[in-house]
Amino acid sequence: MTSLLIENAEGIFTGRSGAAMRAQGAIRIRGGVIAAMGALTAEPGERRLDARGCVVYPGLISTHHHLFQSVMKGVDPGIDLPLSGWLRSVPYRLWSKVDEEALATAARIGLTELLLSGTTTVADHHYLFSDTYRFDPAQVIFDVARDLGIRLVFCRGGGTKANHIAADGTVPMPVQSLDRMLASVEACAQRFHDPSAGSLSRVALAPTTPTWSLDPGELKETIAASRRLGLNLHSHLSETADYVEFCLSVHGVRPVHWLAEHDWLGPDIWFAHLVHLDQDEIRLLAETGTGMAHCPQSNCRLGSGIAPAKELAKLGGAVSLAVDGAASNESADMISEMHSAWHTHRAVKGADAVTAEEVVQWATAGGARVLGWPEIGTLAVGQQADIAIFDLDQPRHFGMHDPLIAPVTCAGAPQVRHLLVGGRVVVENGALPGLDLSRLRADAARVVARIAA
Ligand code: ZN
Repeated sequence: MTSLLIENAEGIFTGRSGAAMRAQGAIRIRGGVIAAMGALTAEPGERRLDARGCVVYPGLISTHHHLFQSVMKGVDPGIDLPLSGWLRSVPYRLWSKVDEEALATAARIGLTELLLSGTTTVADHHYLFSDTYRFDPAQVIFDVARDLGIRLVFCRGGGTKANHIAADGTVPMPVQSLDRMLASVEACAQRFHDPSAGSLSRVALAPTTPTWSLDPGELKETIAASRRLGLNLHSHLSETADYVEFCLSVHGVRPVHWLAEHDWLGPDIWFAHLVHLDQDEIRLLAETGTGMAHCPQSNCRLGSGIAPAKELAKLGGAVSLAVDGAASNESADMISEMHSAWHTHRAVKGADAVTAEEVVQWATAGGARVLGWPEIGTLAVGQQADIAIFDLDQPRHFGMHDPLIAPVTCAGAPQVRHLLVGGRVVVENGALPGLDLSRLRADAARVVARIAA
């Protein structure tokens, strides 16, 4: 069994709580898992990774993305609009131009950016499934993820109803009957869902939003199907005040209470955003273990507000961090996301609102909890060897008294020296082995020119 030793790091952030949060020494990896941590010396024949001048984190986990949007960054008609206008003028206007090449290129851009920011697991919420496709979007995205070596939770989205804000004069977003959608998810899970600890591919059932993508009568059948299939459920909720106003006016209750009536709360469910919550909704989410994918940069970019992530975490709730799609967050990397989370909560709620350590925990252990994947997100013996080694060799890092929090506090372009997924080195000396960046740049330019035409 190959053995690998990470040594000489300035410090280790374990993602665990209390005194176990920080560690020193080396990490030994065997068979894709962490075999030992602490004062270790290299064994004969052991591969050694030098982490001198670096800090070591668990591989970061982004729990909500739309990879197809990685070729829709900074689209002019939507750049200054809030959520509904932005949806109308960017993803809902351009979705039908996303062919197989565009999707593969977008996935490669987004996943490369995540890997180069220390991310080892991503949940991609894909909601484009059209009868006119000659390709399977799940296959395209899984192929790219497998090629790059990142763990992918493919959140199979879509809905039975078109969103009320579809744009005039554009191809309507695809919809399916509930039976067809659930059968497609089942087929997708049979092909790609691997529930093992070391899995690189998992599937979740993910209607785009319970408020507008399904009929209320379909909600219970949907959650029952996801539980029967052994999948987690994911969706968007309460990103803007529109969700709250809609639920109050149509259903007479706020969104989280409305979903409680339909069995849509629990530790096997997580929602993107959850910006607009009242105290009782926060309590209910915490009590049921329902997860939050907190997307501060996207929420800032669209002017949606700042989610009460700290308030949920304080009650023992499940909080994770996510980049969201690049059409509403042009810096879709997790270092930038952590830095923004650290700043935005303090800007609004005061300097004691959140610590750098808490933000890292949202991006690591919190992500593992939200995805129901306890073997990732923390560094301890027996855990999957998903490990990010961040270089602190840029002038922005010089002068730090506590280097362990530098990736959060100093931000800027992330400097990943090495990144491991299940013990396999997927970023080496700051680069993805085999990735042709100039070709990816040319592919992106060609796809953008076609989409914009
Ligand atoms: Zn989203």
